[in-house]
This record gives sequence, C-alpha cells and structure tokens, in this order.
Amino acid sequence: MFGEDGQRYLDFTAGIGVTSTGHCHPAVVDAIAEQAGKLIHGQYVTVRHRPLLDLCERLGQVLPAPLQSLFFANSGSEAMEAALRLARQATGRPNVIVFHGGFHGRTVGAASLTTSSPRFRTGYAPLMSGVHIAPFPTAYRYGWSEDAAIRFALQELDYLLATVTAPEDTAALIVEPVLGEGGFVPAGTAFLQGLRERADRHGFLLVMDEVQTGFGRTGRFWGHQHSGVEPDILVAAKGMTSGLPLSVMATSEKLMAAAPAGSQGGTYGGNAVACAAALATLDVIEREELVANAARQGRSLAEGLKRIAADHDITGDVRGLGLMLGWEFSDAQGQPDPATVLRVQQAAVTEGLLLQIGGPLRNVLRLLPALTVNDDQVDEALRALSRAVATATGQAHADRREERV
Ligand code: PMP
Repeated sequence: MFGEDGQRYLDFTAGIGVTSTGHCHPAVVDAIAEQAGKLIHGQYVTVRHRPLLDLCERLGQVLPAPLQSLFFANSGSEAMEAALRLARQATGRPNVIVFHGGFHGRTVGAASLTTSSPRFRTGYAPLMSGVHIAPFPTAYRYGWSEDAAIRFALQELDYLLATVTAPEDTAALIVEPVLGEGGFVPAGTAFLQGLRERADRHGFLLVMDEVQTGFGRTGRFWGHQHSGVEPDILVAAKGMTSGLPLSVMATSEKLMAAAPAGSQGGTYGGNAVACAAALATLDVIEREELVANAARQGRSLAEGLKRIAADHDITGDVRGLGLMLGWEFSDAQGQPDPATVLRVQQAAVTEGLLLQIGGPLRNVLRLLPALTVNDDQVDEALRALSRAVATATGQAHADRREERV
C-alpha cells in the first residue's frame, strides 16, 4: 500500500484478513470489471444469475459434503445473525453458548454473542437474551498447558449445561476455530472434538464462525480442517471475495428447511459482482496454491517472530495457524503488556509495516498478510518488526527512566 505522501507500506493486516489474494489482484479486478459490465444486481430470490449459480457449485466443492445449502449475505455479522436464527428455528430451543474472547460481529444479535471487548457491547443495552458464555481454552493466559486448558474449558461447559442452560434449552454452541479479534488463539483439536461430542450427545448444533479462518487463512482451506471436526452450520466472509461485501452461511438441506420462507433474506445478498469476485478469488487461491503458501510462509513467519522475541528478550507467546499469527506480550511480572504492543505497532508503521492489535486485553500483535505473501516480503516484514521492537522497547526503558526521575 502507498500513503498519500508516497510512503510504501507492507500490509500485514490484509484489511483484517479480507484481501486474501493481495490488494487488487489483476484476475480479481478483471472479473469484477467484466461482471460490472453485464449485471451488477439481480436479487437472487427472483433472479438466479450465473455468478451466483457458479459460486454455489464452487463452494459446494470446498465445503464439507453435508453443508450444501447456502445463504448469502453482505457481512460476517449478517451471516452470523442468519446462523443464530436458523439454530433457534431448527431446534426450537432459545439459548446459545459462546466462548470468552469470541467476536461474531456488531449487529445487536452478533454483538450479543461477542465477548472479545466491552467496546462492542456497551451503551445500547439490553443485548439479546439467551446467550451464555463459557471459557475458551486460552492456555497462555491461564499459564497452563493446552491439554489442561482444554480439560478445564470442557468441564466448565458441562457445568454450565448442568447448572444454567439445560441441553434441552440450548440451540447451539458457537465457536471460532481460531479466536480472531480475541488474539489468534487456536481452539485445539481436543476442544473442538469435545464440542462436537457434546452437540451430538445433547442434540444441539455446532456453529463454526470461519469469517476469519476460512478461505486458506490458516494453511488449510477451512480452520476446522486442522481438527477433522465438522460443524452443522458454517459461516464465512472476509477472504472469500478479496474485498467486496459477501458472506455465506452453509448448512445441510435438512436444517435449512427449518427456516420459513422469507425469514432469511436481504436485498443485496449474493450480489452478482461480489459473486464474480469470489469466483475469481477461488481461482487464484487454487491456481497459485495459496493454501499451501499460507502454511509454508506461516511457518517461517512464526519462526522469525520467535527469533525476534528471543533476541529482544520479550516475554510472551507466539502462536497461531498458517498466516493467522499472534504474538502476545507480557511484562517482566508476567502481566499483559498492551503498552509495549501499541508502541511496537506504531514503530512498525514508521518502518513501513502495517500490523494489527488484538486480544481482549489489547496485548496481542496480529500478523495476517495476504495469502500471496512471498519469501522476500516475509523477510522484509521480520526485519522491519525487529527494528520496531528495538525502538519500542528502547522507548519503554526511556519511559521507565523518566518515571524514576
Ligand atoms: N466473525 C468473525 C470471526 C469476525 O472476525 C468478524 C469481523 N471481524 C465478524 C464475524 C463480523 O464480520 P463483519 O465485520 O463483516 O460484520
């Protein structure tokens, strides 16, 4: 990206994971231009246009075999609302369980499912009722092994089901395979298996929010594929189109049939130009083998982050999957250190590198470049980040000296 002053930036935010094929990939730009000259809008309940039909076909090939019934909307939030509505419609049960640190959107229903920051929830109470919150296995935060964190989180989930929201009142568990806004914490295979097992045992649904983890971001096409656990409802958006507004909720025909006609819908969902952008994005992901690239570059980026952490004596945790990498910072006492993270992010901008901050406590640096990122760009980003960390921690020492003075 280039600033107005001509300053060059390496974008390691990918517009919060949206520009999966990079900014303005020529194949995506051409597909958008071509479609815009043919048909921009054709409300898909009445006009089943070609880009929509082709996209259904293509998504059908990459989605889990049982999830072939699709609903298109314009944003992650809207598709999450659809998932929530369908889970209640299909089960006839009122409550849902979400997990600490989850982010599912800003519309009132989706915000009610969101616990990654009070910013998304305050000031317009009451939120939607029927939402219960269970722990997510954030091992580093607890100072535990992943196994211990998962055991604890599943025990607490069982306790919640035994004491607060009985299984027969519970419509769904709603989870991200890797916490996104919550700081890039993978759920872990055993956790997702535990959720699947409980959903099957109690007859409620497992909804996976793959808005951030979908379309190759984690080094597999879907985030859930690392675990082998499949959801009953999958929601995706962001990386799907390389930047135009389009989201999808995928489920089985049986579950979709529970939605009365007209209860799911919207004027702009399944827009023809956005569908064309999604088709071109899928082509690029396949042709340029971007899922494998995400896995490979993710590994070298993670190694580089760990080296920088060791070189600069930073306490914290480097984690993630594929090109969804988080670096959580702690101070010398092991407490969350958002101040250093903010300084690193700001110093990185000066070094020409754009990074994101996340985590409920704002102490996680998030790296999520386009899936097209190459060796040179990873090296350049790591060099810029190393300089930014040196500046930011030097600044930290200076601040402490000032405090003492
Ligand atoms: N779910 C997840 C996991 C997300 O990360 C986001 C957006 N950050 C959303 C849902 C909401 O998507 P949107 O901003 O398109 O409404």
